[in-house]
Amino acid sequence: MIIRTVTGDIDPASLGPCDAHEHLFLDTPAQPGEEFLDWDKAVAEALTLAAAGGRSLVDWTPIGLARDLDGLVHVARETGLHVVAATGLHRDAHYAAEDALRSESAAALADRFVSELGDRCGIIKAGASYHHLTAFEEKAFEAAALAHVRTGAPVCVHTQHGTMGLALVERLRGLGVAPEAVILAHVDRNPDAGEHAETASTGATLQLDGPGRAKYWPDSTILRLIADLEEAGHADRLLLGGDTGRRGMMRAYGGGPGLDYVFARFKPRLERELGQELSDRIFVTNPARAFAWEPHACEAV
Ligand SMILES: [Zn+2]
Repeated sequence: MIIRTVTGDIDPASLGPCDAHEHLFLDTPAQPGEEFLDWDKAVAEALTLAAAGGRSLVDWTPIGLARDLDGLVHVARETGLHVVAATGLHRDAHYAAEDALRSESAAALADRFVSELGDRCGIIKAGASYHHLTAFEEKAFEAAALAHVRTGAPVCVHTQHGTMGLALVERLRGLGVAPEAVILAHVDRNPDAGEHAETASTGATLQLDGPGRAKYWPDSTILRLIADLEEAGHADRLLLGGDTGRRGMMRAYGGGPGLDYVFARFKPRLERELGQELSDRIFVTNPARAFAWEPHACEAV
């Protein structure tokens, strides 16, 4: 098994403490005025994560949203962090009505994803809308599944406000993706431990990535969800990320709380309240498993 970073494959055991969901470069019609594309500012933010003890981050910016693979390589080289990049697509609202990606077939999209996995990408992203999939998203899920079957790379799913998690795992299972290869992001946007436990019992990995969003919920809500999931026996299915997905969340752009919030603020609190062992599992052991794959055919297409 390997984890494919933008600067080469690594042994999963050397991934180290991982911020499982970030965006270093992003521009989308869904968030006008919130674009962040500057290499130096990305390095500055990533350095704060490294200073707070992070060793790796997974960038979930997919095709068509100003993802910058050369920029990610630059950040990895300047900071020493392992950086994992995404192929695949985001949810429908992030693409303009006239975007040429919309008219590509699932097979053509899958070819594109497989080719990128053979280049520098290490995860396949797919995105869902709130409680439903649009026709474009249905096609993207199909393409993600095809690319997973051909390569073995994990399928990393954007859930909208944490909805449809279980349904998306089952849909992917129907398309040939085992739940163990699926990571569901943003599940804490629907802070319902019972729903999470039911979803985790499929074998899928759940990502909580909302620390620092005090205007929506306090960090204590996320700590409670983690404690409840551990109690239900699913501590090995949990990932934590910052999802610093807006310009206004980065200090380098004059905002906050910054890319290091999860490591500098949330992780120490998790360790105090729920223990070091659980923290190590969530930040080190689980990501080393969840993002690892056995590349079986990243053939050129
Ligand atoms: Zn995100």
